[in-house]
Amino acid sequence: MSENEKKMESPLTKYPRPPFVKQPQEVPGLASKMNPVPDHGEQSYKGSGRLTGRKALITGGDSGIGRAVAIAYAREGADVVINYLPQEQSDADEVLALIAAAGRKGFGIAGDITSEDFCRQLVEEAAEKIGGIDILVNNAGHQQAIESLLDITTEDFDTTMKTNVYAPFWITKAALPLLEEGSVIIATSSVQAYDPSENLFDYAQTKAANVAYVKSLAKQLGPKGIRVNGVAPGPVWTPLQTSGGQPQDAIVKFGEVTPLGRPGQPAELASIFVQLADSNASYATGQIYGAAGGNGHP
Ligand code: NAD
Ligand code: MG
Repeated sequence: MSENEKKMESPLTKYPRPPFVKQPQEVPGLASKMNPVPDHGEQSYKGSGRLTGRKALITGGDSGIGRAVAIAYAREGADVVINYLPQEQSDADEVLALIAAAGRKGFGIAGDITSEDFCRQLVEEAAEKIGGIDILVNNAGHQQAIESLLDITTEDFDTTMKTNVYAPFWITKAALPLLEEGSVIIATSSVQAYDPSENLFDYAQTKAANVAYVKSLAKQLGPKGIRVNGVAPGPVWTPLQTSGGQPQDAIVKFGEVTPLGRPGQPAELASIFVQLADSNASYATGQIYGAAGGNGHP
């Protein structure tokens, strides 16, 4: 087998399987503190020039799915700005070092996207740093499992809505005037949009909203030559889940119910985001791509 050929790998044994140890963290949590530490493709993702010269803004790019996307985009030749919360600077620094090692420009802009002013500032600053934006990935998200609707405060509900629904609206509104024909927008939705869990009442609604965001915006922006797509992951091993996204009892068996019997790792989703950003996928718009280990929709 030549060096460029890839070995066939079993999706069953490639990555850790439950049981996992309980490991509560404060929101938003750090990837570096997880056990096992997630695979974001640090050692494995190999680029092939698919996004050479592209300019990407990725929210939640410090950890989890967003980090895997940031690494892959940089190795495919894109310059990348990541946004994250100030508490996540140490995770973000690891990503920025990997972008630099890929020979691309990488910048971190910390700040809270539940503020409209910050969202506007983020887009402006990102475009300034890398000379524009032609890939916008609305990936940041907030998820807290709460058993009863009666225990969801207005503040809880607000935080989930502001992070998952308002922020993509504000960021997209600020970015739109900068997006030239050929640009792409990608949203991270969830299987929760289609098959909501009883303890994710507020979160599931936002993920359904993300699907409508994709479907509506794709129609609005198709005639302008801007593609809009989404990814709907199933259970993926990220700090979002271990910092309250699931009760700790569910962390122990996280991903067990899927046909693959384990959670996905962020690295396993990166190529989908690359494909959607690549101009080769020029007829894909208004689509939601699943990555859920065999359960769920779409
Ligand atoms: P993650 O914790 O690694 O990433 C989420 C990121 O959101 C955080 O790193 C943080 O930087 C950002 N964020 C949250 N609130 C913010 C705020 N107010 N201001 C700025 N940034 C903020 O977890 P992840 O699982 O990779 O999450 C990425 C996306 O994937 C989310 O939209 C989530 O809903 C979605 N998703 C995750 C799963 C899963 O099982 N992990 C499944 C389906 C969908
Ligand atoms: Mg994070």
